[in-house]
Amino acid sequence: MKVLVTGGGGFIGSHLSEAHLERGDEVWALDTAPNLKVRHLLSHPRFHYVKASVLDAEAMEAFVLRCDLVYHHAAVVGVEHYVDDPFNVLNVNIHGTINALRLAHRHGKRLVLASTSEVYGRNPKVPWKEEDDRVLGATTMDRWCYSTSKAVGEHYAWAFQRMGLEVSVVRYFNVYGPRLDKIDVGRVITIFMGQLLRGESLTVIGDGLQTRCFTYIDDAVRGTMAAGLVPEAVGGVFNVGDDRETSILELARTLLRIGGRDPQKDVRFVKQEDIYGPRYEDIPRRVPDITRLKNVLRAAPRTSLAEGLKTTIDWFKRETETKPALTSSAGESPRP
Ligand code: UDP
Repeated sequence: MKVLVTGGGGFIGSHLSEAHLERGDEVWALDTAPNLKVRHLLSHPRFHYVKASVLDAEAMEAFVLRCDLVYHHAAVVGVEHYVDDPFNVLNVNIHGTINALRLAHRHGKRLVLASTSEVYGRNPKVPWKEEDDRVLGATTMDRWCYSTSKAVGEHYAWAFQRMGLEVSVVRYFNVYGPRLDKIDVGRVITIFMGQLLRGESLTVIGDGLQTRCFTYIDDAVRGTMAAGLVPEAVGGVFNVGDDRETSILELARTLLRIGGRDPQKDVRFVKQEDIYGPRYEDIPRRVPDITRLKNVLRAAPRTSLAEGLKTTIDWFKRETETKPALTSSAGESPRP
């Protein structure tokens, strides 16, 4: 099988590309980012790295044409982007998705769209089933631009499905593991990781009682591949995540424990406003219902948080000691 992974140079995209290579497939990874996260794949005879943007439909078309299956993972993701550069988030995520869907539809290719648990916003009724409501704040709160951009992509997916596109949507829940972002930036795990490795206190925002369901990358990749390969997945939307809920304070303490530090003393509580400014609001709880992931995709998560964090810490330790820091795969786009 021939597979195109947009965002194939990013965190999930690089792991997904690797998994398809292991399956015996030929993979084209399309990304604007430098190829740091896939440098170990560059000499593989069935792997091709294409430096191009999903905003450039013409450049993308040649690769959609030669593939059987498209994963659309190119996106601008990370809270710092939502509050610093909402234009880039909206532009890349909406226009890039329209381009990918249109090309897959035009050439009769199956497509998996990477979406997010952020689409549920701060709906207080957890766990969230795939058809549950989206509960979001005001548009003046920059935080919601990412959620909105991904939801627009989902709406377009269903619109193209009516016109004959074979499409599935996967909504990720705080996926982590080796190659996640760049240390110190991006998501909570990479921020904590930098602090842990330098022997600093971990900065817990608020009281730390807000929760997330952290999902190990290998589990997320198994769910994603099933969404691309299982016939019953076509036309479906799937939560891809672990359903074990962890508070941020618990996450900090678990990391400190694994890192041989004091889980009680080495935590520093900080105010949300001091980190993200006034145009941000946090999500108190985020938990998936994973019935479909288990029953349709047959991809129940297998990795415990302690096990996944240990592998991730070991990887970041090795990387910071031996190689240049990896960069995230945020897309680029022209300014208005
Ligand atoms: N967080 C924290 N300390 C940090 C960075 C983040 O306590 O230094 C918290 C943040 O407030 C949120 C959670 O960690 O409740 C997850 O944040 P992340 O940026 O990873 O993404 P989110 O899950 O909110 O999309």
